[in-house]
Amino acid sequence: MASPDRIAPDLPAAIARLTEMIHEAGFIVPFTGAGISTECGIPDFRSPGGLWTKNRPIPYDEFLASQEARNESWRRRFAMMDEFGGARPGRGHRALASLYRAGKVPGVVTQNIDNLHQASGIAPEHVVELHGNTTYAHCLDCDSRFELAWVRERMAAGNGCAPDCPSCGGFIKTATISFGQAMPEAAMRQAEELTLGCDLFLAIGSSLQVWPAAGFPLMAKRNSARLVIINREPTEFDAAADLVVRQDIGTVLEPFIVH
Ligand code: NAD
Ligand code: ZN
Repeated sequence: MASPDRIAPDLPAAIARLTEMIHEAGFIVPFTGAGISTECGIPDFRSPGGLWTKNRPIPYDEFLASQEARNESWRRRFAMMDEFGGARPGRGHRALASLYRAGKVPGVVTQNIDNLHQASGIAPEHVVELHGNTTYAHCLDCDSRFELAWVRERMAAGNGCAPDCPSCGGFIKTATISFGQAMPEAAMRQAEELTLGCDLFLAIGSSLQVWPAAGFPLMAKRNSARLVIINREPTEFDAAADLVVRQDIGTVLEPFIVH
């Protein structure tokens, strides 16, 4: 349990304490999870009714092993596209983009795959995607990029059969990291550099249950950065945090948006 004085008692206290900490910080690294995007209409994984409870994720080895798993993975992707393809950045994304423009945030580390940090105005090279990006696809062998619309067309033309790479015959997958797939080395390195270079680390909207991503908040804390956890539900790391905010992310971060 976090000691009670670390848990913000209410919204005004949370915003006041966060304002002080942001003011006192030199470099801030936000670390975001699905919770920052729920107000944009994209459900998170673990909340009731979330994606997790509807479909068991397809692990990487199954995707590689069967055409049917690849077809199913793409069918789900296009169903999601129809449901939340038009999502726009929310208040949390816009607040972080404001801190980025102000020079306080050198980069954002995210577990999200929805491209909304880039859409909020953060340069792509400053968005460190630990689990990749679902808004485009690539060949698992030669890394050629493919747009989702192209995959969809080919699937429709091929009786629902997911296409392979026209240049090398490799499997085409969204540019995300599935369970069982190796973590992206460059992103892990960049995340570590950011984490070790900041003096304030903000874990926002993550249940902090997916590893190795969940290791970054503690890495920051051990490196003597201050740690803030903003999440509706308690997390396992609340006891290590300097401030725990169990409120709605958009409402907590809205005051930091600079137009
Ligand atoms: P998670 O679903 O495990 O946890 C999200 C947390 O956010 C929950 O604890 C929930 O209580 C909290 N939350 C949701 N809405 C909130 C709000 N408005 N205010 C405050 N708290 C709120 O998500 P995770 O930790 O990111 O791990 C899930 C994995 O699923 C990640 O690896 C990610 O790649 C993937 N994922 C991504 C998206 C996306 O890109 N938008 C969506 C779902 C899942
Ligand atoms: Zn290829």
